[in-house]
Amino acid sequence: MFTDIYSPIQQLKHPHLSQLWIKRDDLIDPYISGNKWRKLKYLLSKAGAENKQHLVTFGGAYSNHLLATAAASSRAGLKSTAFVRGETVKNEMLMLCQLFGMTLIFVDRESYKDKTSLFQLHFGDDPNAFFIDEGGASMEAVTGCAEIINELPTDIDHIFCAAGTGTTAAGLLKGIHDLGLKTTLHVVPALKGGDFIAEEIFKYLGHTHQLSLHTDYHFGGYAKTKPELIDFMKNFISSQGILIDPVYTAKMMYAIQDLSKKDYFKKEEKIVALHTGGLMGILGMKDKFF
Ligand SMILES: *Cc1c(COP(=O)(O)O)cnc(C)c1O
Repeated sequence: MFTDIYSPIQQLKHPHLSQLWIKRDDLIDPYISGNKWRKLKYLLSKAGAENKQHLVTFGGAYSNHLLATAAASSRAGLKSTAFVRGETVKNEMLMLCQLFGMTLIFVDRESYKDKTSLFQLHFGDDPNAFFIDEGGASMEAVTGCAEIINELPTDIDHIFCAAGTGTTAAGLLKGIHDLGLKTTLHVVPALKGGDFIAEEIFKYLGHTHQLSLHTDYHFGGYAKTKPELIDFMKNFISSQGILIDPVYTAKMMYAIQDLSKKDYFKKEEKIVALHTGGLMGILGMKDKFF
């Protein structure tokens, strides 16, 4: 399906940092985007190995993971179904999911909490159905994300990523350790109370060495923004010519900018920000920009 994916690494303009780079995983594919492809890759091979023809997964109404699963399924010739959290809605993301052939089942927030029961109830006797957790969270996802490190130079001082569940971060840290690199992984949670991310990473890896968690860049919480973040984002996009989104990647880039203002980095240090993609979601956010 994607035999040789390769995403470029590109230098960013910056007044003080001479070695600021961005790994363009957003360019992997517009829909099977960024870290969501990295997370799905080995889940799809597992489904294939088990002869499963039908991917069943879970997400919110603006989930990048749902769109990635829908697009990846159709390209792999598989069926897909998603349990969508909350009341029935129509939006740009779900429209794309449906165009890629995904069946949507809306479930109330209470029932949504018990994903295993939902799967059992609807697909318990479908031998073709393959369970994929919300956001693709799994050890397979960690393995897929670790591969990002293999595509980067080995002398990077700081790698930055945004986090929701911390699975991508766990993969990056695994990659750093597997190669024995000295790189520090900086994780910027997109939600409030992001300290749990360290626990998530610990669950996967059994350690959190070389991890630095920056929990103060959530701007009010998940999918919340402030004028300061929106201004930063508009300025970043127009000056760099690279789209970022307010939910994840703008918060990460803002963190780098803020830390550099506080002289956190040495001028020559090599910094790589991971663009985790997920840009389709901004289509539903036009009210925030005008
Ligand atoms: C889902 C997502 C993340 C968060 O990934 P986790 O593995 O859940 O931490 C970051 N950036 C983008 C663009 C995403 O879509």
